[in-house]
Amino acid sequence: MAISSRATGSGSKTEITLSPGGGFLLEGTGSATVLTPEMLTDEQRMMQRTAEDFLKREVDPRVPEIEAKKPGLMRAILQKAGEVGLLGHDVPEIYGGLGGDKTSSSLITEAVSRLGSFAVSYGAHVGIGTMPIVLFGSPEQRQKYLPKLATGELIAAYALTEPGSGSDALAAKTSAVLSADGKTWKLNGSKQYITNAGFADVFTVFAKVDGEKFTGFLIERGAKGLVVGPEEHKLGIRGSSTCPLILEDCEIPVDGVLGQIGQGHKIAFNILNIGRWKLGVGAVGAAKYCLELGVGYSRDRKQFGKPICEFDLIRKKLGDIATNIFVTESMAYRTAGLLDARSHGIDPAAPDAQKQQIDAIEEHSIEASIIKVFGSEMLHATADETLQIFGGAGYIEDYPIERVSRDARINRIFEGTNEINRLLVPGTLLKRAMQGRLPLMALVSQVHMELVDPTKINRKIPEGPLGAERQKCDFAKRAVSYAASLGVQKYMQGITDKQELLGVLADCLIQLFAMDSAISRTMQIIAAKGEGAAAIPTAMTQLFVAKAHGMVFDGLREMLMWMSQDEEWGREIRDINTYYELTRVNTFSLRRKIAKHAIEAGGYAL
Ligand SMILES: Cc1cc2nc3c(=O)[nH]c(=O)nc-3n(C[C@H](O)[C@H](O)[C@H](O)COP(=O)(O)OP(=O)(O)OC[C@H]3O[C@@H](n4cnc5c(N)ncnc54)[C@H](O)[C@@H]3O)c2cc1C
Repeated sequence: MAISSRATGSGSKTEITLSPGGGFLLEGTGSATVLTPEMLTDEQRMMQRTAEDFLKREVDPRVPEIEAKKPGLMRAILQKAGEVGLLGHDVPEIYGGLGGDKTSSSLITEAVSRLGSFAVSYGAHVGIGTMPIVLFGSPEQRQKYLPKLATGELIAAYALTEPGSGSDALAAKTSAVLSADGKTWKLNGSKQYITNAGFADVFTVFAKVDGEKFTGFLIERGAKGLVVGPEEHKLGIRGSSTCPLILEDCEIPVDGVLGQIGQGHKIAFNILNIGRWKLGVGAVGAAKYCLELGVGYSRDRKQFGKPICEFDLIRKKLGDIATNIFVTESMAYRTAGLLDARSHGIDPAAPDAQKQQIDAIEEHSIEASIIKVFGSEMLHATADETLQIFGGAGYIEDYPIERVSRDARINRIFEGTNEINRLLVPGTLLKRAMQGRLPLMALVSQVHMELVDPTKINRKIPEGPLGAERQKCDFAKRAVSYAASLGVQKYMQGITDKQELLGVLADCLIQLFAMDSAISRTMQIIAAKGEGAAAIPTAMTQLFVAKAHGMVFDGLREMLMWMSQDEEWGREIRDINTYYELTRVNTFSLRRKIAKHAIEAGGYAL
C-alpha cells in the first residue's frame, strides 16, 4: 500500500512513505517514514525565519492599533507581507508566485499565528481567498488576478456562508441568472461573516445558477449591486475584518464564473480541506506562543516565597501543553509531507495540473479534518490553561494571554465546525473502505480471526524503542476497526445518522492518528540522533499515548453500551478488552521532566 516518494518539493532528499488518506489506521504503528520538523531543509527554515522576522518587525509592535482596526492598517501590513514574498508562496511561479511547497507554507502559517487577527486575515487572503483561483481559475482569470494577489496589490476574500446556510453550505439561497443576451450574470442574495470583506478587492462568491446549480463566481469590489455591510463586533480576532455582503442584482461579466457551472461544491470543499489543515498548523504556532508566555510568567511570578513554576500543578499544565504541541506538530507536518510528496512531480504547465493538485488535497481530507479538530481543541485548552497560570492577570487586557484566549475560540467554529469535521472523519473513511480505496475489511477480518482464539494474539512487547506504545497503538487500531465494523453491520447505510457513534469513532481515529504520528516522529528522532537526544520527545510520546490509549477504549466501551443488545454487549466488550493493555506508565514524572525542559528552555524547544 505504501510507496516511497520524495518528501518535499524543495530539494529534500528524505524519502517518506506515501500512505493513502486514512492509511494510518491500517499501517503498523511506526512503520511509515513520515515528514517531521527535524527533517526540514535550510531553504524551508529560511522561509520560516522570513515570516518570523516579518512578524516581529511589522506586526508585534502594532498589535494595539491592529486590534483597534486602525483604518487601512491590516491591508497595508498584508501588502508589506507581499513585498517579502509571504503572499505568493502557494501561487505558481508562472503567475508571479513562488510555487512553494506545503511544508514551507506550514512554517509561514505557524509563524504568523502569534497574532490571531493577522493570522486570520493572512490565511483568508492566501488560502480561501487566493487558492480557489489557483486551483479552479481559467488561464485568463489566473493571469488577471494571481500576480496581483501574490504581491498584495489585490486582497482576496471567500464568501460561502449565508444567514440561512452555514454548516449546510450547499443550501445557499443566493441565485445567479444569465442575462438574455448572454453577456452578464445577475446575482441576488446575501453572505455573512466574510473575512477581509471590509477591504478585499476580489471575492469568490457561491450562488446557484437558476436556483439549482451551485457555482463559484469571481466578483470584484465595486461591481454594480455589491454592497459590503458594516463590520461585525467579535469576541476575538478583533483586528480582522468580518462583514456581510449584499448582492442586489449584482452584475458581473459572463466570464466571472469560477470553474464549471454546477461544480461549486468541488471548489468549496477542496478549499476548506486546505483551510482545515492550515488551521491546525496555525494552532501549533499560537500554542507555542502560549507556552512561551506561560513559562515566562510562571518563572517571574512568586507566591509562597518561590516562583510558581516550581509548583507541581503549574508544571503539570506546562508539561501537558508542551506535549500536546509536540503531538499536533507531528500530525501537521506529517500531512504537509504527504501533500508535498503527492504534489512533487506535478508539472504546473500540464493541462491537468490543477486537477492533479485538487486530487492530492482531496486524498488527505481525513487528515485535514483530524488536524483541524485536534489543533483547534488543543489550542483552546492551551490558551485556557495558560490564562490560568497567569491567575487574575490573565483576565486583564494588559497581558496578551487575555487576547490569545479570546482569539483561539473561533478555530472550533470556522473552516467547518468541529461537529461537522467530526462527522466527516469516520464518514469519509468508511466511504473509502466501501469503495475499495482503503483495505479496511482486510484488517477487520484479521481481527475477527484473532478473536476466535485470543490466546494466539502475540502480546509480546515489540523490540526496540517505544515498543509498549507501538503495541498499544496497534491494538487500539484493531479495537477501533472492530467496533466500526460492528456499527456498519448493525446500521448499514443508516450509520450516517448515528451521530454519537460517529463522534466516538471520530475521536478514536483522531487519537490514533495523533499517537501514530508522535510515535513515528520519535522513532525517527531516535534513529537519527540516538535515545539520549530523543529523551524529551520520548517522554512526550509515552505521556500522550498513555492518555490517548485510555480515551480510545473508554469511548469504544461507551459506544457499545449504547449500541449493543444485552446478549451481545458482554461479548463485544470482552472482545474490545482483548486489545486493552494496561502497562505501568509514570505519567507524573514524565510530565515533570517535560515541564522542566520547557521551563529551562523558555518555551517549546525541540
Ligand atoms: C469570525 C468569522 C469569520 C468567518 N469567515 C468566513 C469567511 O471568510 N467566509 C465564509 O464563507 N464564512 C466565514 N465564516 C462563517 C463560518 O464558516 C460559519 O460560521 C461556520 O461554518 C458555521 O456556520 P453557522 O455559523 O451558520 O453555524 P450553524 O451551521 O448554524 O451551526 C450551529 C451549530 O450547530 C451545529 N450543527 C450544524 N449542523 C450540524 C449537523 N449536521 N450535525 C451536528 N451539528 C450540527 C454546528 O456544529 C454548530 O455547533 C466566518 C465566521 C466567523 C465567526
